[in-house]
Amino acid sequence: MSVHHHLSDATLMSYAAGNLPESMTLVIAAHLSMCPACRNKLTVLEDIGGMKLEQAPAQAMAPDALDMVLAQLGPQEERPIRVSKPVAPSDIPQPLRSYLPERLSDIPWKTMAPGIKTFTLPGVRTQTGTLRLLKIAPGVTIPEHTHGGMELTLVLRGSFSDEIGRFTCGDIADLDEETNHQPIADTDEDCICLIATDAPLRFNKLMPRLVQYFTGM
Ligand SMILES: [Zn+2]
Repeated sequence: MSVHHHLSDATLMSYAAGNLPESMTLVIAAHLSMCPACRNKLTVLEDIGGMKLEQAPAQAMAPDALDMVLAQLGPQEERPIRVSKPVAPSDIPQPLRSYLPERLSDIPWKTMAPGIKTFTLPGVRTQTGTLRLLKIAPGVTIPEHTHGGMELTLVLRGSFSDEIGRFTCGDIADLDEETNHQPIADTDEDCICLIATDAPLRFNKLMPRLVQYFTGM
C-alpha cells in the first residue's frame, strides 16, 4: 500500500497529547496502522519529552513545524512499530475491529441518499460530531461542503477525488474548517471511507432534498 496523503503535524500533536475525541482518535489510529511514515513521526513526537504538548494550541503551529524539528534532529533511525499488525485476513484496520463486522462486505449499510450508504460506528464518543463509514457508488459526488470544525476521512477501499487531490486506500484527508470540497468516487469500484467530524457539515448550496438526506451528517 502506498500512502500519499497524511495526517497534519498539528493533528499528530493533538493525538500524542490525547486532546482529541474518541472518534478522531480511532480514525487516526486506523491511518497509523496503514502508514509507516506517520507512525515514525508520532514516535519522534512522543520522544520529544521537553515539549509541552498539552499547552501548544494546534492552530498556532506552522504546517511544517514538525518537519523543521525533524530537520534539526538529523536523520532518524527506523523505529520499531508499536501498532499491532493485522493477524486475521480481515480488510478492517486493526483499531476498528471491535466496532465492525469481520469484513467490509458484512457491514449492515443503511441507504442515506441515492448511491450513498452509511454505517455509524456504535458506542464511540464523538462529542458534537459523528463517526461513520460511507460507501459511495462509482461516479457519485458528496455535495460541496465546508466543515464547522475538523474532518478526517480515511479511505478503506476504492478511491475518491476532490479539489485537494486523489485519495486511495490508506490515504487520509485531514481537513480544517476552511476547506471547501466536493468528493467524487472516481473508479468503477465503491469507495468506502471512515469519516470523523467534530461539528456538523455546512453545505454551500441550498439543495433541500440533499440537505435533508444529509441532515445530521
Ligand atoms: Zn500517514
